[in-house]
Amino acid sequence: MKQKLIVGNWKMNGSLAAHQALVQGVLAGLQGLHVQAAVCAPAVYLASLQTLLQGQTALMGGAQDVSMHEVGAFTGEISAAMLREFAVRYVIVGHSERRQYHGEQDAQVALKAQRALSAGVTPIVCVGETLAERQAGRTEEVVKRQLAALIHTNGHCISEIVVAYEPVWAIGTGLTATPEEAQQVHHVLRQQLKAATAHADAISILYGGSMNAANALTLLQQADIDGGLIGGASLKVPDFLAIMAAASHCAQAS
Ligand code: PEP
Repeated sequence: MKQKLIVGNWKMNGSLAAHQALVQGVLAGLQGLHVQAAVCAPAVYLASLQTLLQGQTALMGGAQDVSMHEVGAFTGEISAAMLREFAVRYVIVGHSERRQYHGEQDAQVALKAQRALSAGVTPIVCVGETLAERQAGRTEEVVKRQLAALIHTNGHCISEIVVAYEPVWAIGTGLTATPEEAQQVHHVLRQQLKAATAHADAISILYGGSMNAANALTLLQQADIDGGLIGGASLKVPDFLAIMAAASHCAQAS
């Protein structure tokens, strides 16, 4: 089995000092684990992150958003090329909080992914249904529409993207999709990717939504769950490391 990818999304939490302590704690505990790992920090902390991660490859740096524009008069925006200057390896795009609070639409998310790819940054593209959509039986329709926009804009480059299935109702709520529910959606996404590229099996599809030390192993053991995008639990070093240990266990058990 390929190594799982575990990504922390630190959102707008903490302080510079807290971030530095988190990075140091994760780096210290990560040694010997069979896992790919990354942390997505607020943009203003990326320079510090770059310094802390220098000279090692166990933990990669990531950002939480990127502009859909390449360059120009877009006050407050940060381009993919700028992220790359700070050795950013991954960038989250289309997180449900961006879709919900900033009105991001599928087409914009797809463009952001394209900008990231062009600059050599791997986009982690989030898809997922709201509670109302799930209750209306529209989960598959929604995630397929979101992924279709991505495939439409990015063509064969889709094989360079990481997808994160994050049911909106599970983010930060303590509610988690059961492993079977998550696997079902991951399978749908994998089939859609297979129709678009011969390399679909190599694409990492992460699960996100209240993943924690207690539920990580059973989620990560599902056939189409290739890792996790972790919010709250990634802010506590022992919890984040426990998730990585579960991911490492899966890689070794295969
Ligand atoms: C997220 O914000 O991507 C996320 C999965 O958050 P949490 O783990 O806190 O639900």
